[in-house]
Amino acid sequence: MASDSKHLDTLLQHTGIAEFDPATGAAPVGLPPVRTSTVRFQDLAALDEAERRKAAGERVVAYGRMGLDTHVALEDVFKHLERGTHCYLAPSGLSAITLAFMSLLSAGEHALVADNVYGPVHALDQAVLGRLGIEITYFAPNHDDIDALVRPNTRLLYVESPGSLLFEMLDIPALAAKARQHGLVLASDNTWGSGYIYQPLALGAQVSVVAGTKYVGGHSDLMLGAVVTNDEALARRINKTQYAMGYSVSADDAWLALRGVRTLPLRMAQHARNALQVCEFLATRPEVARLYHPALPSDPGHALWRRDCSGSNGMMAVALRLPAAQARVFVDSLRLFSIGYSWGGFESLVQLVSLQTLAGHRYWQGDSPAVVRLHIGLESPQDLIDDLRQALDRAGAA
Ligand SMILES: *Cc1c(COP(=O)(O)O)cnc(C)c1O
Repeated sequence: MASDSKHLDTLLQHTGIAEFDPATGAAPVGLPPVRTSTVRFQDLAALDEAERRKAAGERVVAYGRMGLDTHVALEDVFKHLERGTHCYLAPSGLSAITLAFMSLLSAGEHALVADNVYGPVHALDQAVLGRLGIEITYFAPNHDDIDALVRPNTRLLYVESPGSLLFEMLDIPALAAKARQHGLVLASDNTWGSGYIYQPLALGAQVSVVAGTKYVGGHSDLMLGAVVTNDEALARRINKTQYAMGYSVSADDAWLALRGVRTLPLRMAQHARNALQVCEFLATRPEVARLYHPALPSDPGHALWRRDCSGSNGMMAVALRLPAAQARVFVDSLRLFSIGYSWGGFESLVQLVSLQTLAGHRYWQGDSPAVVRLHIGLESPQDLIDDLRQALDRAGAA
């Protein structure tokens, strides 16, 4: 996997292809979705052999929960993307996050969590982790001194880079060095990079968590997550936790993700090109106070982005000089951008970001009355620009 010398674009086209039928010498290109609950065995000796290999840590399936060939193929794809040796699937990105936390922390332990992480991590903390005696301290990765926050029972440093509201780049190699110094596991939410344009494991993290729901699936029609690691001991813990918690992914969703990921190289590059064009337009508008997009030379994270990323995507945030009511008119006036959560599909999306949520992120300077997040899709960028222009004009006139 990690040692395969072929280009990622090639691996994404050649992983998870159907094997030839020995009887006919023929095969379809893609693997079909192999659906099952029960896995049946020819005789007890075959079952015993499967159980023996499973106990030795091999990926052998005696029951359908872990999934069969389609799931294995998707795990292989995630290993290539993230440059990891082990991958564990989960039924959503958030469940991949909970799998990581439940695998890596025990009662009485403590984790440092970046203040810009995906919002529902706070819900996990409040609804579950606190109740189980696991303590979280939120920290600002670009401001706080980790040395001062680490406690004797700290085990995990959990971050997301770039953050999914303001896209601030974190210095993963520096965080990895800190984690090593204090004996912590560094885990990073890599949904933004989706393994294609950013690889935290290659930069020193031990665990990468990805919502396959976003760019990997790419078509806004499935929910899926993955936890990837290149650490043997951590892999055993994640494996046991995944089994014990009963996480299971539908073969149809695994199949859709496999189908979607074939075009990830094309989609990602086009999202990135379109987003830059949209940024160039927005930068000319007086209503725009600031653009948040690390591929822009004016973004404070640009140097880290150039150093650590091999590309960009369609995500950006725009701080507007418009009062809240006019910002709402702007969002409601957009015709090609759907109002909605999530991102990474082919279509453009807009979300009015809650200033209350941003107040908890120390990267946010609180200096604009409204922030919108845009996902720039695969439409013609000129059409998107025309749409943004008419919506800004309407908001201005409101
Ligand atoms: C969407 C998202 C998730 C959660 O993924 P779901 O599949 O929607 O549960 C996690 N992290 C980030 C950064 C996301 O954008």
